[in-house]
Formats: sequence, C-alpha cells, structure tokens
Amino acid sequence: MKYVIIGGSAAGIAAAAEIRKVDRKGELTIICKDKFYYSRCQLHMVASGKTTVEQIRLKPTGWAEDMGIKFMSGKTVFGLDTTNRTVTLDDDQTVAYDRLLIATGTKTFFPPLEGISGPLTFGLRNLDDALAIKEAGRTAKNFTIIGAGLVGVELAAELVKAGVKVNLVELAKYPLPLQLDQVCGAKCSKMLADAGVKLYFGTPAKKLHRSPEDAKPVALELASGEKIATDVLICAAGVTANTDFARRAGIDSRKGIIINDQCLTNIPDVFAAGDVAEYVDTVNGLWQLTAVWPTAVRQGKVAGINMAGGSASIKINTGMKTAISVMGTHFISLGQISNTKPEWSKHVFRNTDSRGGESIRILYTDGNALKSALLWGNVTDAGLYHEAIVTGRDISGDYLFIEGLDAAKRGRETMSVL
Ligand SMILES: Cc1cc2nc3c(=O)[nH]c(=O)nc-3n(C[C@H](O)[C@H](O)[C@H](O)COP(=O)(O)OP(=O)(O)OC[C@H]3O[C@@H](n4cnc5c(N)ncnc54)[C@H](O)[C@@H]3O)c2cc1C
Repeated sequence: MKYVIIGGSAAGIAAAAEIRKVDRKGELTIICKDKFYYSRCQLHMVASGKTTVEQIRLKPTGWAEDMGIKFMSGKTVFGLDTTNRTVTLDDDQTVAYDRLLIATGTKTFFPPLEGISGPLTFGLRNLDDALAIKEAGRTAKNFTIIGAGLVGVELAAELVKAGVKVNLVELAKYPLPLQLDQVCGAKCSKMLADAGVKLYFGTPAKKLHRSPEDAKPVALELASGEKIATDVLICAAGVTANTDFARRAGIDSRKGIIINDQCLTNIPDVFAAGDVAEYVDTVNGLWQLTAVWPTAVRQGKVAGINMAGGSASIKINTGMKTAISVMGTHFISLGQISNTKPEWSKHVFRNTDSRGGESIRILYTDGNALKSALLWGNVTDAGLYHEAIVTGRDISGDYLFIEGLDAAKRGRETMSVL
C-alpha cells in the first residue's frame, strides 16, 4: 500500500502516526512545503524574537526515518491526477499513491487594498513569515497589523512587549469580535492600549501608501482619512484554504475541501483533514473551516485510521473553542459569542477575588441547553461548559451548579440575567 500525505503539520502528522500504528510496512510519504514539523501556534513569538525556531520544533531530527516515513520537505505539490493516482511536485517529480491525504491547511488572505502588493507586507502563517517579520524588526519603526482576530492580537501583544511600535487596525469596534462580547472586548482594548498598542477600530483600511523610490510602505490610510505611519504591514484578517490543485483535480470544495465524517472527499481514496477541510461544526451545525490545532489533529487521526483500512468517524468537530492570554489575562471563548440568537438568554456572573482580580463568566442558554460561554480571568471549569455546549445536553439539573458555581467556590458573587 502506498500512502501519500500532502502537508506535514497537525493533521498530516497525526494521520501518519495512526497509519504507522497498524501498518508498519506500507510506503508512507509526506510531501511538505515546510522544512520540518513545528508549532504554527507559536509563530507570533518567533516573529517577536521571544522564541527561537528550535523551540517550536515538534519532532527531533530523524523522527521520520525512525518511523519509516519518507519526509519530502521543502516540496510543493501543484498537480493531482486522480485517474492515474499521482501527484506532481514543483520539481516535476511524480509520486504515485493508493491512498492520499490532503492536509495543506490555509494561507493568508490579503485584503484587496490599493498598494498591498510590494515589499514589507506579510501574513503570519508559516515560519518564513515569522522570520521575515523578525528581520524587518531590525530596522522598521512602525508595524501596522490589519485584523484584531486571534493572530493579530497575539502578534500585537508580543511585538509591543518586544519594544516595537504597533498599530492595530480592525473593522469591528473591539478586538477578537468573534470571541468576545462588547464588555470583555472593551477590557481587552484597554489592556492592549495600556501596553502601548495603538488601536484603530471601527474603520476599514483604504490604501497602503508606498515610497516612490523603493516601494517600501510609508503610511496606511484608513477610510476615515487618517494616515498611520507604517514601515511594515502585516495582514491578519483571515485565511484562505489551500485547495488550488484539489479543485483543479475535481475535488468538491467550497471554502475548503468538502469531507464526510470519515474525512473522505468525493473522490475514492482521497481524504482531506485539518484547516483545509470543510465539515459541519458540532456547535452551530454549519459547514465551515474549523482552523484550530486540536480539530486538525482529530480529523488527521480519523483520516489516518481510515486510510489504513480501519473505521473511524469524526465525533466532535468545532473550531469554536478559543483559549488565549493577552497581557497576562486568560480567557476562553466557547461556542458562538457574536451573532447570538435573540431567543437565547444571557447570564453574566462577576467575581472579584481577594487581590482585586476580576473574573467574568457570560453564559448563553436556550431553554435547558447551554449554547456558549465566555470565561474571562478565571477559566477553571471550561471543560464542563465545553462538554455541555458540544453535546447540547439538558442542563436543567446543572442550573444550580452553573448559577452557584462561583458563589459556592469563591465567595463574593453578583449575578444578573440580561
Ligand atoms: C500565528 C498562529 C497562531 C495560532 N494559534 C493557535 C492557537 O493558539 N490554538 C489553536 O488551536 N490553533 C492556533 N492556530 C491555528 C493552527 O495552527 C492550525 O489550526 C493548524 O496548524 C492546522 O493544521 P493543519 O495541519 O490543518 O494545517 P497547517 O498547519 O496549515 O499545515 C499545512 C501544511 O501543508 C503544507 N502545504 C500547503 N500547501 C502545500 C502544497 N501545495 N504542497 C505541499 N505542502 C503544502 C504546509 O507547508 C504545511 O506543512 C494558530 C495559527 C497561527 C498561524
């Protein structure tokens, strides 16, 4: 049996490990643009110089050989022939497969902004991006980030801690609009501003002005007319799934490659998993990209088991779970916090601990079901809330527990139902 996996990250490596658990002899090849397997989740720390490249490496040198895996690093697949079962690489090599996994993840979405193409404009999706941002930091004075989602906020926080001037531009009125409500969003804004990040929220970017001499960025102009001095522009306003060669080969794709609960595509023996795949989110029931590491690993495992002849299916599939720490404050967002439904009830719990630290819990319920939760400051029991949200179980028996949780455990508590 010839197994080929395209993509050597969370989903691809998880699949390879599952295949090797049951098939030690089959030919297993991973083809990957990346030079080695690393944690994408820490790229902002490499960009800021806080973490070294070696520190984000996830497997020691030689791991692939030890597992009998041919790891073709630094190679890009651009062609797929599902009739003859081959993939073609950028150096014109052809690799044959019996079972194929596409685990190619996503790439940065660059907004269609006048002036966006040119030097010193980056995304943050791979190690080369992180190293390019770090290198730019040697001479650049003003960094501007478009997009205050997870990547934008984490990067802004790390860069400002490293002593760099950072501007953060966001269309919404507050950062992390998918993960936070207005109250916690305002708190997050204050923390970033207090740390020195300059915030430009509620207005879109219009044009990147570049120097006529060397085409380097000079200023980012907002729709409001304001111009922000900018030497380096980083786009963190979304991603696009790497579906190009798969689409050309006739693999059904919308935002991502459509998979079934076994991670199979519409083509026999061609699987997809991780950020590149589109599947139903357990929490909101919508077909979407999940784009978080644990889900990529879970899908990769399912694909690997099925590729090796076993039987596995996706059970829980959600990207709507975010744990983040900004300037030392932890928070976890579970389920849909933005665009909540009018019929949901919002419950707010506030608690101040003996050292003055504030924690906030915001729960949304629909009848006897917990729909989503935002835990700010104190994130204990997140697992309990997550389980209730993804299973959609009746929590009427837990109401006392949920409402009395902080009161019983942590003393002073106020609760209001809005
Ligand atoms: C800065 C940053 C911070 C993040 N923080 C978190 C976090 O805190 N928590 C969390 O859960 N998630 C986080 N994520 C998201 C997480 O990294 C992804 O969900 C996860 O990496 C997805 O894994 P994947 O294997 O599906 O795809 P990816 O990790 O994107 O890997 C895709 C692989 O495919 C390869 N590839 C792509 N195209 C080709 C091609 N044509 N030919 C050959 N190889 C190709 C790439 O080189 C790469 O090896 C973060 C992401 C970023 C960028």
